[in-house]
Amino acid sequence: MRIAIAGISHETNTYCQGVTTSAHFYVRRAQAMQAAAGQETDIGGAMAACERLGAAAVPLMFAQAQPSGLIERATFEAFANEIIQGLGSESFDAVVLLLHGAGVADGVADIEGELAARVRQLVGEEIPVVASFDLHGNITQRMCDNLNGVFACHHYPHIDLHVQAEAAVELAVTLSRDKRKGRCSLASIPMLLPTTTTFEGIGQSMLAEVLAQEAETPCVDISWFHGFPYTDIEHVGCSVVVSWLEDEMTQEQASAVARGVGQRLWDQREAFRPTSLSAEQAVDTAVAEVEVEVDAGTDTITDTGRGPVVIHETSDNCGAGTPGDGTHLLRAMLDAGLAQRLPRGACFGFVVDAITAAQAHAAGVGAEIAIELGARTDDLHGTPIVTRATVRALHDGRLVLQHMFRGAPLKLGPLARLDIDGLDVVVGSRRSQTFDKEPFLAVGIDVMRYDIVALKSSNHFRGCFQNIAQRIVTADPPGLSTHNISVFPRQATARAFWPMNEQASFPG
Ligand SMILES: [Zn+2]
Repeated sequence: MRIAIAGISHETNTYCQGVTTSAHFYVRRAQAMQAAAGQETDIGGAMAACERLGAAAVPLMFAQAQPSGLIERATFEAFANEIIQGLGSESFDAVVLLLHGAGVADGVADIEGELAARVRQLVGEEIPVVASFDLHGNITQRMCDNLNGVFACHHYPHIDLHVQAEAAVELAVTLSRDKRKGRCSLASIPMLLPTTTTFEGIGQSMLAEVLAQEAETPCVDISWFHGFPYTDIEHVGCSVVVSWLEDEMTQEQASAVARGVGQRLWDQREAFRPTSLSAEQAVDTAVAEVEVEVDAGTDTITDTGRGPVVIHETSDNCGAGTPGDGTHLLRAMLDAGLAQRLPRGACFGFVVDAITAAQAHAAGVGAEIAIELGARTDDLHGTPIVTRATVRALHDGRLVLQHMFRGAPLKLGPLARLDIDGLDVVVGSRRSQTFDKEPFLAVGIDVMRYDIVALKSSNHFRGCFQNIAQRIVTADPPGLSTHNISVFPRQATARAFWPMNEQASFPG
């Protein structure tokens, strides 16, 4: 059996400056796609599943970029054409698409629906087309109409993207081998969720409900899409997709299940209502937490059993399209004099600023340099930190992820560890959020030796830090991925959404 594997994966933040072009995409073909087998990513899961099931994976093309602004139309067309031509030049038993679900190109608000429709038109109704998704996808009826199965990762952090990509391959194989028909039923809920982890709180309990419902329903999968709110398109929002087999359920039954899960989400909406701490409030909260521990007599450097308090700057998360060069949290930490107040000090990993990183690399370890750090992209994310710093360590920024996306390489560009008024600050050169400890370790920072560890990420960092943090504090200063979703203007949709509009209702 031959399974074509292809995909375009991008989370488009239409509020970002700049256009995303082919130069921003990391494009893998053939051997490079095969080489991802075993990585805990969607492409890695799809390849591994084909191998495990004895199916021949035919990797066509997989294009992926860091979340960023609107995709250039010509870029989308080039990728879509390459996939269609690849599919047209050979024969396949099934197609598995690796998608995000929140991709927007200039003039194509629903790139996944468009791609799925073109693939369907080419292969016809008899060839199964199944897709894996990121749970931040904004899902459309068009996607569901053209796919025989939809598999979103269940967790945020996305520790199971590879598991759901494997499930997509498994379904594709089953449908093709047994000549069965898969369908997808969608319920769209007019909710714009702030970034919500599934590792605790309402996200965790809601996911447990979804999985329990999945276990007692004769369906293949129930995917709860949180949706991606940082985009101005008509079909933005939270949704539920039930994937089912025609010989096991009816359209009416599947739709009722999707609506039922949607109703549970809707009924619990107030539990998702975002709360925001300013950078200063987050620092004060973290310091108070450390002081309680210090009073309890657990403040010695040898006490490695006590993890740090982690502050995450959720509003400047490159993983949602932000610049990563924001200075709101770093400035609050410097203003609070943390290095002088905390027994074990504080560190920050990292701020994206290629110019400062290059400056540090040119000066060398031990040099003192005058810096204007961060806030180079816009005014929203703060103003540059103008001061002097000492270069403590340097690294080329080539890492391998060890928690979420385990095994996948990550290039952060030149990294520098700066000592700014006693604070250990990591500076990177390429946009990325902090997924795990690796950017710290690269420049000799053991996060377990600090009272406070700060980083930029909304939830993926939890894949590593949830288990080691004494406490996690969310800082939400102004930024393009703020929890405060109401600040974003919306022109593309007239629909009323919770939490902005009282008139929002479900169903209909
Ligand atoms: Zn996501």
